[in-house]
Amino acid sequence: MAEPDQVQQPQSSRLKIRRWILIITFLLIPVTIFYISPIVIMMGASEGIVTGAFLLYIILFILSLFAGRIWCGWLCPMGACQELGSPLIKKTVKEGWPNWIKYGVTVLWIAAIARAFLTAGGMKGVDPLYGTVYGISISSVQILMMVVMIFAGIFIVAFLTGRRGFCHILCPIAGIMVAGRKIRNLAGWPALQLSADADLCIDCNTCSKRCPMGLDVHGMVREGKMESPDCILCATCADVCPEGVIQYSIHGK
Ligand code: SF4
Ligand code: SF4
Repeated sequence: MAEPDQVQQPQSSRLKIRRWILIITFLLIPVTIFYISPIVIMMGASEGIVTGAFLLYIILFILSLFAGRIWCGWLCPMGACQELGSPLIKKTVKEGWPNWIKYGVTVLWIAAIARAFLTAGGMKGVDPLYGTVYGISISSVQILMMVVMIFAGIFIVAFLTGRRGFCHILCPIAGIMVAGRKIRNLAGWPALQLSADADLCIDCNTCSKRCPMGLDVHGMVREGKMESPDCILCATCADVCPEGVIQYSIHGK
């Protein structure tokens, strides 16, 4: 199988826009990380404070009811960190039990937040700027070093396990958004999803080779099953398909 960076495809404008968005979201980490970090939610909870990251995760859960894991595909700096380094990551995360670890991480993390609030005597206040200095997240060399180490750890997980390995295996946000998507799938209301016309497919496998999550997109097209808990709705498969087989669509189940 050719490696992702070896596949020569015309780059669609949406593909370029997504790449630039990932670069920008990565460069904004010094400002934004405290509004995104699961660790900051825990820190706030231990003082009974609802932080900006807590509020963001509520918004992301609601978003997932209508657009699945689109946050992961387009805006998450943890995802951006892994994807921008993807020329160094040749492997694909294998299907199997490691993909289930993230759900355990999510449950333990939510339980720890609940316990921290209980220990602090409940929710005492809301502070969207919690932990920041004038809204800026990285306000000291110590915080900078911690953030660098965390992102290095995220990248090392991906390097060792495969493309976007942290998203596949450890990310607590993924568990929240997959839960939202499952609820939507049970309810069946209209939501953003992928659709495919398998009759147009020429079995070139480009979609699978370029999928940042390393999914067997070609197999999904052939099975007529374009839904996957690990799909981040990035639309890369749609943008690289030479036959226009795959598209975004909005419809119910
Ligand atoms: S299946 Fe398509 S939309 Fe989903 S993660 Fe892979 S490339 Fe992105
Ligand atoms: S869906 Fe498109 S990219 Fe994927 S195998 Fe078929 S023709 Fe190739």
